[in-house]
Amino acid sequence: MLGAVLFVAIVAATFLAPAGGAVATVAAGEKWACDGPVARRHVLGDVVLPLDGAPIAVLHARSGPVLIDTTVTNPFPESQRVVVAVWFPYLASVTLVAGDGAPRRAGSLHPAGSGGVLSPVPAFLVTLGGGESRPLSLCLEHSGVLIAPVVVLPEKRFATRVLRDLVLAGLCLGIVLAAVLHAFASWVLIGGRLFARILAFALVSGLAVLVATGLGKTLLWPSIPFRASDAFAVLQGLGLAAAGFLLKAVLLRPGGRGLVGRLLDAVSAAALASSLGAVLDGRIALVFTLFSAVIGPVLVIGLLASLAVRRTPYARAALVGWGSGQLATLHMALRLFDVTPYHPLNHHLVPVAITLVVAAFAVIAAEIAAESRSESLRDPLTGLANRRWFDERLAEEIAKAERTGAPLSIALVDLDHFKAINDRFGHAAGDEVLRQFAAVARKRLRRGDWPCRTGGEEFALLLPGTSEEEACRIVDRLRQDVVLTAFAPLRTRAVTISGGVACWRRGETAAELLKRADDALYAAKQNGRNRIVSAERMASPAQSGPTKSAASGLASACPLPGSPVETIQP
Ligand code: GH3
Ligand code: MG
Ligand code: MG
Repeated sequence: MLGAVLFVAIVAATFLAPAGGAVATVAAGEKWACDGPVARRHVLGDVVLPLDGAPIAVLHARSGPVLIDTTVTNPFPESQRVVVAVWFPYLASVTLVAGDGAPRRAGSLHPAGSGGVLSPVPAFLVTLGGGESRPLSLCLEHSGVLIAPVVVLPEKRFATRVLRDLVLAGLCLGIVLAAVLHAFASWVLIGGRLFARILAFALVSGLAVLVATGLGKTLLWPSIPFRASDAFAVLQGLGLAAAGFLLKAVLLRPGGRGLVGRLLDAVSAAALASSLGAVLDGRIALVFTLFSAVIGPVLVIGLLASLAVRRTPYARAALVGWGSGQLATLHMALRLFDVTPYHPLNHHLVPVAITLVVAAFAVIAAEIAAESRSESLRDPLTGLANRRWFDERLAEEIAKAERTGAPLSIALVDLDHFKAINDRFGHAAGDEVLRQFAAVARKRLRRGDWPCRTGGEEFALLLPGTSEEEACRIVDRLRQDVVLTAFAPLRTRAVTISGGVACWRRGETAAELLKRADDALYAAKQNGRNRIVSAERMASPAQSGPTKSAASGLASACPLPGSPVETIQP
């Protein structure tokens, strides 16, 4: 409801917004390069070389076009090359009349081709002869909000500033691109609407960064007849709407609404409206800025409250990212009314803030992806790692053992007569036994040894850096622990396990190692259960194979020096 009201209000405001500033018409015969009516005309003082790099004027306007008139004087006897630039990437066009010829329009390249410097802002190279004073007229066409510093710089200094801008833009775009790729990969590999939303948000933000750094409109798509400021207003609206949906998905449980949910819905609806309005009418940019400045802080407060009350996961990261974006928007709004001071890096705040927000969501996405991966590798009943994790980790450990030569053992463990436990005490009791067994195994194994549930009542133990002898000792201790454990749902009935231990041999594959451990387990079962059998001991030269030796009853239990294997017959 609130969302619908805001939607209508913003669309209505788009059409009711005043045209702005007193409108002046360029008289016929004047050398202004603007066509048609202009909103403002600035006559600036003379500029005399050398220059300190500070802007000769910072223009504020809420609708265009704007005219600037100045004179640049070169007091030196030799000629000087200077660049006249308007450091505002959202301009639709800038035209210069250098007092000596036809109007020139700033193109995608540094117009005078000064060493082919790529400029993300409209710029002109002017060569002044020794002692020359040159009248310059600039016409800025824009829509929405204009906060444009006009600079006159020596050519070299201009190139340095452009380079600084491009490095910063590259940094922002690199981070956003990484977030886009990560979100896309997570969406494809893990799936789910959350990653699709993060991807949508990162893509829109990436386009907004392209516009905000001047790379999009000025360099990549200069011929598209859509003003950069309009493009930015549209993207900002879409980005805010996407962020609203995204924050909702991240912070609230599915179906969860409440005040924060409704607030986010309202913000998304209003942002979509402002985006639509920006397509229809450029003046929406102003309305949008005001909307963001008012709703943004309210949203942050709502999230803060949510964070304090619910301790929702990721709320803190979302708050940091979102807060930085809101601060930049607020700063832009205050700049418009000249409340905050001008600084050459001011206009970088917007792409940097967008990048921070995207980075915050990328961090959240990475955490969610890691969690979902760890969930996909965990057995939900016992909380142990599952078969998939065991297979992956075994391959890694074999590769490590191949490199380092350290021993690596595995054990396959199976609960004895588990079907009978299920039959007698029920499936739920069986589940409880599996959970308790997992707890016993966790307790018995050392840090760095990994118990995994590989099947129903089958477990695999991964024992890196462990010889077969040592592994037998560890697994046999586990066997003894199990015998001595009182499994709650079974009253007095004891539980036993059988196990097969194998130590990796150089050149052996994971499948071959598992096969030997499985044969040893089979032998343990064949020999009466409640025992641990070593694959090494089974394969004596006199025997033709482990199965045969097991069947013949010769399968030996693990060699435990000084402590013969204790076997308790059921
Ligand atoms: P053995 O000593 O030869 O291993 O006999 P067993 O009864 O343990 O082996 P069998 O393979 O005949 O039966 C395994 C049983 O484990 C059958 C199945 O119902 C039960 N089982 C498998 N997964 C689960 C589970 O998640 N929970 C419970 N409660 N039982 C399970
Ligand atoms: Mg069993
Ligand atoms: Mg089994």
